[in-house]
Amino acid sequence: MTEATGIVGEFFSLKEDTDADLLTMQCGDFYEFFGEDAETVSEELDLKVSQKSSHGSSYPMAGVPIDDLTPYLKALVERGYRVAVADQYETDSGHAREVVRVVTPGTLLETTDADAQYLAAVVDGTESPGDGGYGLAFADVTTGRFLVADAEDADDALTELYRFDPVEVLPGPGVRTDDDLLGLVRERIDAALTLHETEAFAPKRAAHAVREQFGEETVGRLAIGEPTLAAAGAVLDYVAETGTGVLASMTRIQAHHGDDHVTLDATTQRNLELTETMQGEREGSLFATIDHTETSAGGRLLKEWLQRPRRSLETLERRQESVAALSSAALARDELQDRLDEAYDLARLASKASHGSADARDLLSVRQTLAVLPALAETIESNPDLAASPLSDIVDRPDRDAASELREALEEAIADEPPSTVTQGGLFQRGYDDELDEVIDRHEEVKRWLDTLADREKKQYGLSHVTVDRNKTDGYYIQVGKSAADGVPDHYEEIKTLKNSKRFTTDELEEKEREILRLEEQRGDLEYELFEELREEVAARAELLQDVGRALATVDALASLATHAAENRWVQPELHRDDRLDVEQGRHPVVEQTTEFVPNDVRLDEERGFLVVTGPNMSGKSTYMRQVAGIVLLAQIGSFVPAESAEIGLVDGIFTRVGALDELAQGRSTFMVEMSELSNILHTATEESLVILDEVGRGTATYDGISIAWAATEYLHNEVQAKTLFATHYHELTGLAEKLPRVANVHVAADERDGDVTFLRTVRDGPTDRSYGIHVADLAGVPDPVVERSRDVLERLREEKAIEAKGGTSSEPVQTVFDLGDGEFRGPANADGGQPADRDETNEHEQGETVDPETKAVLEEFAEIDVNTTPPIELVTEVQELQERLEETER
Ligand code: ADP
Ligand code: MG
Repeated sequence: MTEATGIVGEFFSLKEDTDADLLTMQCGDFYEFFGEDAETVSEELDLKVSQKSSHGSSYPMAGVPIDDLTPYLKALVERGYRVAVADQYETDSGHAREVVRVVTPGTLLETTDADAQYLAAVVDGTESPGDGGYGLAFADVTTGRFLVADAEDADDALTELYRFDPVEVLPGPGVRTDDDLLGLVRERIDAALTLHETEAFAPKRAAHAVREQFGEETVGRLAIGEPTLAAAGAVLDYVAETGTGVLASMTRIQAHHGDDHVTLDATTQRNLELTETMQGEREGSLFATIDHTETSAGGRLLKEWLQRPRRSLETLERRQESVAALSSAALARDELQDRLDEAYDLARLASKASHGSADARDLLSVRQTLAVLPALAETIESNPDLAASPLSDIVDRPDRDAASELREALEEAIADEPPSTVTQGGLFQRGYDDELDEVIDRHEEVKRWLDTLADREKKQYGLSHVTVDRNKTDGYYIQVGKSAADGVPDHYEEIKTLKNSKRFTTDELEEKEREILRLEEQRGDLEYELFEELREEVAARAELLQDVGRALATVDALASLATHAAENRWVQPELHRDDRLDVEQGRHPVVEQTTEFVPNDVRLDEERGFLVVTGPNMSGKSTYMRQVAGIVLLAQIGSFVPAESAEIGLVDGIFTRVGALDELAQGRSTFMVEMSELSNILHTATEESLVILDEVGRGTATYDGISIAWAATEYLHNEVQAKTLFATHYHELTGLAEKLPRVANVHVAADERDGDVTFLRTVRDGPTDRSYGIHVADLAGVPDPVVERSRDVLERLREEKAIEAKGGTSSEPVQTVFDLGDGEFRGPANADGGQPADRDETNEHEQGETVDPETKAVLEEFAEIDVNTTPPIELVTEVQELQERLEETER
């Protein structure tokens, strides 16, 4: 490529200095892309490419009008590009251009999406001396929200990342080389990974940046680790570097402490379908189900509550009180929601003001939204129940006086229907500024003179067909119809002849024209200047706007919880600090929306802390366990719950793991993942946690699986002592209820009528009937001898299954015993006994007995029959056939 000069050359030299993927450069009224960038953009966004020649070569060029840039930027960023924007400005010697912004997923201000848009940094401090661990920082440039969190290890860091679901992640120096962690981030989080300069993460520089931004004292009070400071500093640096200009709206830093929140690891958040279903749909998630918020800020807050349930009894009871008051005050709630409907997103508007992109209509939105706060307060005060609830504190927390001052200032300033451009005047109310009023008066006077000119001329000179107008080429003119054109006075100066008319001007008209142009310019400049001042004033109140926005969002989120509770007959759970969980007639919050739901109880307490849940396939085990987790989670955001009544001992964490086999169907998980997550649960769950295990262990061979399930049960029961629900198809686990004091069995009942299996969906105490299929065969009318024989055979099969294991060096199967008592395999059994004395007679007999190959084959086939899925008649035929074969071998 030959050296390009001129505009193209300028483009390439700017491009060289930025590390953005694409550059767009302002050229007059357009933003242009050149070279490869033009081709990329045209492919991605269907822009037309033309050729620009420069210095004898030609270069692809694609452009968009200035006013249309935003949607293109958004689209490019959403496709994963980082786009540098170079603006043009005037200099003494002409134009110059400079990159003013780099737009990236995490710094895109022009979002129309209601969701929080987090930019995150994650720093690995495990290798540096000092406090170690990981550090995380999250900033939402669209609202000015800034949060930091310490994380103990990589798992913890991942949990936080998953919780905030950032759109862009800046990995710190150590993390960049950690392929495992990066791999997981890529897999779990739909975020762009950006390598920001290493120096921004340097502890000293980062700490300095954080103190500058949030103040020495605040940072000291936060008590966060060095890696976290580094992450926060890097985020600030990046926000500054990309030219978003919103640092001013980042007024507060908040530390997210694990201790205040219920631990929800990434898998659990996904399993419980908090914000999206396993299929990645928003619809059908818990959030979508319970969200009745009126404002996008309220929706964001409610989602945040769901993702970060709380552990503090006081906090939760306060939220409950408000929800309770709101759920019974239906009329007042409606009124609040109507008023909230008038509110705009104040935090977003504050960011726009800081960035300098807020227009007059945005300030009008600020004014309108500020008025919502006193309106809410009024509704709350006029209802005794609401007034007595924490709601009145919520609306009183922002500086109400300052808010109404700002509102009044805006009321006096901004016109009622301002234009969307800020450079053409018409933004302000009369009386706002004397100088402006003078200009406007003068402007209007001249305009009036112009407007009435035609009439005056008609009268004075007896002309007909006279109009006065203006256009770009001719400026102001007097247009006179052809027939009358000859009679114009002498001082008329002809400027144009048209088919049916002539255009004239006069000295006076020209003078007025100059005056009106001067006044228009003056008015535009003055208004813009005043507007910038006003916008800066608003930007300076970012913190106030955020406070008011937060109060409105809180009322909105609480009213949403109340609405859902009232409309779905949810009840206020009684919260306490004990181990007890007692839910009567509980329902699944999402499934109840679409199904005739059969409610179920759950009871866990000190004596009964571990439930083994059994039941046939599709009977409702998974739903039951998710329902329990969902109810606890809802209780810990302060919500009411779907039940007749509920007592809930607060938990410090909810852990769920679905067996790889169930997950495999969705192509998401391997047995390895299943085990590492089980391991994580065993390591991190505590006595105060709720653990949900669904068919864990099923993803491997039977003996492996049962051993793992068994050992995990014991460990959870004896060591961790977490409240646990474990759904399993390993029937052997039900025997544990007799051996381990806190383990109890429950099963989901099913019944059969008229040859069809009916799932009753009712959870009852005790293990499921093991010979469920045979029971069905019995009900279906299979002859008694066959049913009895089936039971007999099944019994023998079970014994076999419990003992056969291959091992040792001999090719013969060595029989070992899986002992229900201590959960261990016993050594090889000798034909002449050697078993412990406490074994019962029949067992011993069975152990020693050898089985002939044909019987064994029959037994194996029998074991293969799936009693849950085989239709009764087929079941009968199969059993009959096996029976006959058995009889033959006996002969
Ligand atoms: P399992 O885990 O035992 O195989 P699931 O929990 O997956 O069974 O439930 C199977 C089906 O039954 C699901 O479609 C679910 O919606 C429905 N279901 C489960 N429990 C109930 C209930 N209590 N009331 C109504 N439908 C239910
Ligand atoms: Mg299931």
